[in-house]
Amino acid sequence: MRLTHLKLAGFKSFVDPTTLHLHAQRVGVVGPNGCGKSNVMESIRWVLGESSAKEMRSESMSDVIFNGSGNRKLASRASVELVFDNSRGEAAGEWSQYAEIAVKRVIERDKGSTYFINNTVVRRRDVADLFLGTGLGGRAYAIIGQNTISRIVEARPEEMRVFLEEAAGVSKYKERRRETESR
Ligand code: ATP
Ligand code: MG
Repeated sequence: MRLTHLKLAGFKSFVDPTTLHLHAQRVGVVGPNGCGKSNVMESIRWVLGESSAKEMRSESMSDVIFNGSGNRKLASRASVELVFDNSRGEAAGEWSQYAEIAVKRVIERDKGSTYFINNTVVRRRDVADLFLGTGLGGRAYAIIGQNTISRIVEARPEEMRVFLEEAAGVSKYKERRRETESR
């Protein structure tokens, strides 16, 4: 699956609906300090299920909603959608049949988050399942933040094992086993 574009609306500094196209193999995001580069990366982690407000540099999760500026009123909701090309059918399970997969998270003030895959309401863990074994989990290694480097370098053996099992594609089978055993 390849991320082809992302759509943001009301998320942090992206108050107006914005679509970012990622047509090339390698894309750089450049701009002056405070223009929203880190917000873009955070938006991706957020859709994937980030549940820690601290990881979003916020106090509470609803702080990711545009909170107003000079002449703009604050927004009542934030949404981020990641659109993946799945023409090779690599998506897990029932989603493999779709040529395109759109994963969306919406948050409304005081109402919490709702997740969607191709406009169907799903659970947070359905989103996690979709990416299990791809390295693109909320806490997996596909997104290396400034503090993730030290998290990997300084990881205790059991934490390191989680990274390695994700890379080796073992984690999704472990998750299935956990699921079966808990039934
Ligand atoms: P740097 O080069 O310093 O790393 P950056 O391009 O990564 O900067 P970000 O940290 O992504 O910048 O963006 C910070 C901007 O986002 C700030 O101007 C901040 O006011 C704005 N911002 C963050 N959260 C919100 C919010 N909820 N509503 C409105 N603006 C927000
Ligand atoms: Mg930054």
